[in-house]
Amino acid sequence: GPRPIPGLLDGLDPEQRAAAEVPGGPLLIVAGPGTGKTRTVTRRIAHLVSERDVPARHQLAITFTRRAAEELGERLTALLGERARELTVTTFHGLGLLILRERYERIGLSAGFGIADAARQLEIAAGVAGGEREGRRLLARLDGAADAEPSAEEDAYRRRLRELDLVDFTDLVALPVRLLRDDPALAAAYRDRWRWISVDEYQDIDGTQYALLRLLAGDTGNITAIGDPDQAIYGFRGAEVGFFLRFTEDHPGAVTVRLTRNYRSNATIVTAATQAIAPASLVPGRELRAVGDFADPPRIGVHVAADERAEASFVARAIDRLLGGTSHHSLDSGRVTGDGDGGLSFGDICVLYRTDAQSEAVISAFNTAGIPFQKRSHDRLLARPAVRLVAGELARHPGGALTERVRAAVALLCERHADDTALVTDLRTAGELMLPPAGRCGADLEAFLSALALGAEVDALDPRADRVALLTLHAAKGLEYPVVFLIGCDDGLLPFRLPGTAPGTGDPAGDAEERRLFFVGLTRAQRRLYLSRARRRTRRGGGAADTVPSAFLSAIDDVLTMAVDEETATRRRPRDRQLRLI
Ligand code: ATP
Ligand code: MG
Repeated sequence: GPRPIPGLLDGLDPEQRAAAEVPGGPLLIVAGPGTGKTRTVTRRIAHLVSERDVPARHQLAITFTRRAAEELGERLTALLGERARELTVTTFHGLGLLILRERYERIGLSAGFGIADAARQLEIAAGVAGGEREGRRLLARLDGAADAEPSAEEDAYRRRLRELDLVDFTDLVALPVRLLRDDPALAAAYRDRWRWISVDEYQDIDGTQYALLRLLAGDTGNITAIGDPDQAIYGFRGAEVGFFLRFTEDHPGAVTVRLTRNYRSNATIVTAATQAIAPASLVPGRELRAVGDFADPPRIGVHVAADERAEASFVARAIDRLLGGTSHHSLDSGRVTGDGDGGLSFGDICVLYRTDAQSEAVISAFNTAGIPFQKRSHDRLLARPAVRLVAGELARHPGGALTERVRAAVALLCERHADDTALVTDLRTAGELMLPPAGRCGADLEAFLSALALGAEVDALDPRADRVALLTLHAAKGLEYPVVFLIGCDDGLLPFRLPGTAPGTGDPAGDAEERRLFFVGLTRAQRRLYLSRARRRTRRGGGAADTVPSAFLSAIDDVLTMAVDEETATRRRPRDRQLRLI
């Protein structure tokens, strides 16, 4: 029977509460950043279990990243205790893997089938297509068109995967779709198991994921879709925001709930972000109000640096000042008050950028300044040479607790490659990344390695570590930080364009997605936001070129921003105290 959790919905505002209490059937929660979508869906699931008597085993919650799934799982465990165990909280890839592990024999796989990482995929594709370049091209085509009719080459590639008892990332979702499509009884069995489905970040699902959801939830199932079309940033990878926009047509009788109160960011940040997205907003009459408890918010700091090294050094100096570093001379009475900067530490800060290459200058500046950081990388963990070395060493020496084995493997490899300092550094990082979270040391290697393979870019980031986070804008989705530096606000980076492409020649849909990416970046910030750019930038392949400011900047009203240089980085108004106005 129901065992209510006292005060479960008390932490929700009336809009959020209404969403949490919708009894069943299709539900669309459409809301801007920081409005508590993720928080609301967490409470909704807990509420269904504790008060509506929906058994946990009938609930499936899908998130975009494994890290998000872990967090959701942790929050639900905190609310529900033991009862959270039977919930299924996972990513699309994790869901697909779960189904395939139960039904592998239908596809001609063995119980211990493996997941091909990027390197293995390339090896196989190159074999099929007759060369590495051709292999890369084949994989790129597969990536871009999951739904298209398979070519002869693709068929050959998939046949080869199967012969090797492997699936790739596309298969992880595509194969379950095929299984359920071909076998209505099987689809019915899974529908009976997961009678309640919630999907966070629904604006970024692709055609295959959509097909899987349709098979699992049908038109009228208890499906809750949560998202924000203005944060759709994965179109380049085949995601289609159209699935979100047509949710109420797909699901007749769907209830739509809008959340309009932003709890995350101060009013300056919310206003600036609203202005920035306005020209491309997909949400008619979008409403977003800052309601968080932020007295007298500071302006958004805008810094123009000479080049990317100076930009990175600005970030390092600004962080030093924010944390009360002593290497600067103070023009005012020290710590600003009133906007809640007290007690900031490295873990409260993130640096966001459009392309991974931009992190190099930042890392070098942080190393010089002694600023601890962690980087969320875009690569799949297993694709990294150092990780592969450690994983290979682990596989050769089975037995023993995983943690100890990772440590031993790293130590051994570091010793063996002692004279290659770059590799040793990579190995140490790889070791750190591979250490499983506490409590899972006994996990078997195969499960651990497929978890690694599934972990994608996200798991390198430990939310509890007191380090500055370095993230691409794509990887920052769903996260929040008290202080955000968004670097590289130059045309060509934001919006991103391939080198040699003239401004204004980008495709408009792509530029709209870039603007949404900028919007995602701005809205990660809670209290302080800095935007920076460089007047000259080194191009790939050497040579520096002059830049022009990102057009996205000009959408933000001047009264919301102030120019800052390294010395004034953390200072608020008054304006007359600004040095070197730009
Ligand atoms: P995004 O679109 O970026 O994913 P979101 O809508 O999922 O954002 P959340 O991450 O759930 O937003 O919430 C943003 C912040 O606001 C969190 O710190 C959350 O704890 C806080 N918050 C949400 N709702 C409330 C509330 N009713 N009262 C106080 N704080 C809240
Ligand atoms: Mg969210």
